[in-house]
Amino acid sequence: MKKVVKFGGSSLASAEQFKKVGSIIKKDPARRFVVPSAPGKRSSGDTKVTDMLYSCYDKAVKGEDFSDEFEKIRERYEEIIGGLGIKLTLEGEFESIKANFESQAGSDYAASRGEYLNGIVMAAYLGYTFVDAAEVICFSETGEFDGAKTDAVLKERLSGLEQAVIPGFYGSRPDGTIQTFSRGGSDVTGSIVAKAISADVYENWTDVSGFLVADPRIIKDAKVIETITYRELRELSYMGATVLHEDAIFPVRKEGIPIHILNTNAPEDPGTLIVESTCRVPKYTITGIAGKKGFASISIDKDMMNSEIGFGRKVLQVFEENEISFEHMPSGIDTMTVFVHQEEFEPKEQKVISGIHKAVHPDYMELESDLALIAVVGRGMRSTRGTAGRIFSALAHARINVKMIDQGSSELNVIIGVKNEDFENAIRAIYDIFVSTQL
Ligand code: ADP
Ligand code: ASP
Ligand code: MG
Repeated sequence: MKKVVKFGGSSLASAEQFKKVGSIIKKDPARRFVVPSAPGKRSSGDTKVTDMLYSCYDKAVKGEDFSDEFEKIRERYEEIIGGLGIKLTLEGEFESIKANFESQAGSDYAASRGEYLNGIVMAAYLGYTFVDAAEVICFSETGEFDGAKTDAVLKERLSGLEQAVIPGFYGSRPDGTIQTFSRGGSDVTGSIVAKAISADVYENWTDVSGFLVADPRIIKDAKVIETITYRELRELSYMGATVLHEDAIFPVRKEGIPIHILNTNAPEDPGTLIVESTCRVPKYTITGIAGKKGFASISIDKDMMNSEIGFGRKVLQVFEENEISFEHMPSGIDTMTVFVHQEEFEPKEQKVISGIHKAVHPDYMELESDLALIAVVGRGMRSTRGTAGRIFSALAHARINVKMIDQGSSELNVIIGVKNEDFENAIRAIYDIFVSTQL
């Protein structure tokens, strides 16, 4: 048995947390390859080391004095090392990091030091070999992740090792420049390592007892999803269920390696298993709910638009020319609506409107802002009738005006548009009808 275990920032925020992680790893000899994040928040008002590094480096770039911030980062590690009682000094490391900040080695380099240093601490604490991710996680000259090269290099490097610590979140380009994945990217590193060593399971340890049916910040005591498929998970993580980085499934997906989400603070809890497919019948009709705020919609009305060949393409071309991606596009006979990210759309609004006027001469156009999109996801919806109807009636009951409803062609999800201000209440209403009432 071989397991890759990734620990998130809150699991490694203090010496006390490190000790929990240590005992989890020691409990199972199969936990041979460890991927740590940078120390996260110790309490709700705290700052993640990654964020400290970004802002410290910002100062360095502006030529401002960054020594106070830098000392605070050093203190975070010293506190952990002291609390663990290990013989390790990071003095030399901090010296060269400071010099590299001064010579402006890049914000990716700066951010990556959180994981790099935590990897060194973790390796010393566990007595495992430290493998710098810069040597084994490969990006191309242009900054794309190079999966094939990484897989070969990692296989070679890890083959002789019984145990190793590989820091998450970063790698390097052929010229040695450090590059990171997007935020939360240690999840991706864990998945890449799991593929390379053909792990039996990729354990992703965090601060919640699995993937929950809805965001715990909105639904207190939300139920844990026992088993979820990669496709369902992707829909949910794309729509904001951030417990796992949305790209983390790709490396393991084709290998059939399950991901197991587990809680460092409650290691005996069963957690969530993420799998390619399953015959396990989900407990509820829906598997999960997630959503995001901050969308705008552009509704275009024109009589008989349905029979006008190329109408949709011409409209979408205007968005393309303005480099705006669209999220959803529900349509009727005489109307189509395009949902876009408000932030992206706002500065180009008037250009887009005049572009659409020129392209298709609509009868009427209407813009609406401050919208939220909610995805209700579940493989169980395929075999259940009336899901959309139930969502509608739950929302009507909660006096929420539904702006849009769109069923994905996979029948795996229903997307609902509501006003930003109704977002939380809408999620609660949907959760209640499908989960709390257990129908
Ligand atoms: P880590 O630091 O371990 O990588 P993250 O903060 O990235 O952890 O992800 C875990 C957090 O994701 C949880 O603390 C929770 O607040 C949030 N979250 C959002 N949606 C969900 C969900 N559906 N299930 C579980 N957690 C969720
Ligand atoms: N430390 C990085 C971040 O805060 C990566 C991670 O946590 O996965 O985004
Ligand atoms: Mg994370």
